[in-house]
Amino acid sequence: MKDFFDTRAALRERLAVFLPERIFDAHAHVYDASFMPSYADKPEHAFGRSRVGAAEYRQGMEALMYGRCPQRVMLLPTPDPMMRDRANGLCDAATACVAEELRRDPGCYGAAYVLPGDTEADIEAMLDHERIRGLKCYYYASPNGNQGPANEFLPESAWRVAERRGMTITLHLACDGAMSDPRNLEYVEAMARRHPGAVLILAHAGRAFAEWTCIEPMKRLAGLDNIWFDLSAICEPAPMMACIRAAGVDRVMWGSDYPCCCFVGRAVSFADQFAWVDEKALRACGFRGEVFTVLEENLIATWIAADLLDLTPGDVRKIFAGNAERLFCLRER
Ligand SMILES: [Zn+2]
Repeated sequence: MKDFFDTRAALRERLAVFLPERIFDAHAHVYDASFMPSYADKPEHAFGRSRVGAAEYRQGMEALMYGRCPQRVMLLPTPDPMMRDRANGLCDAATACVAEELRRDPGCYGAAYVLPGDTEADIEAMLDHERIRGLKCYYYASPNGNQGPANEFLPESAWRVAERRGMTITLHLACDGAMSDPRNLEYVEAMARRHPGAVLILAHAGRAFAEWTCIEPMKRLAGLDNIWFDLSAICEPAPMMACIRAAGVDRVMWGSDYPCCCFVGRAVSFADQFAWVDEKALRACGFRGEVFTVLEENLIATWIAADLLDLTPGDVRKIFAGNAERLFCLRER
């Protein structure tokens, strides 16, 4: 008998039992640093690689997930602040990079990057692969940056295209209050009602890195069938539980946010906001254990949320694969 209880091994064993065989990652990124000029002088943001495609994703995820790897993945373009001007070609290059990976890897689905000034024709022009099933926007395109409400960077043309084609829109909310900011909540609710054929995916459980922000809004959005959630990069069980309790187990999807999930540490709610706590900060607090990646922290939180909500293995399979398959694969025409 061992003379100590190996907590790390016990935790990882739990996760290995929890994780289903079939995994569809609903939120990962590809990029090529050559069309991301804002990152050129910041190699720490470029994840140490000049290009991340489907092959790098699979390799990276296998290392992070104890030899497992999602069979299917939704690849999103990685936004760069310089992409806000469609005329410079960077935004189209980001979408073309996604399409290139779809041609290389049949397990991949993708999203096109939309900007506030886009017409429906601009968006349609980017949909040059049958497995582009979604649209992606980002607050870099808002004049108010990370304090910009969603209407400033997600155009109605995107809703119309998504509605016509039965596509998704992945929205990472901005503003300190995220879903609790009335501008975001009212926009999301109004647009989802006006475009019932478009599926809005609120990324990061409604970007609830500050967990309190999603609790009340989730209840208000619960009745809207075309609002879905992904759990990517969230490292606390509460926002995940709030999503599942409000939307049920059929509209919530697990995602990795690769390569952001390679970061060591985690997002933690503090007071009304949150912080990304890295290894240096933890050591300064006297933490002496092993520091995990965001991916591992996210899987621990997902397991705890599922356990505390008494989810069945069937529910867990829906969150890890079934829901994303229903959303992205069965619409193949
Ligand atoms: Zn992301």
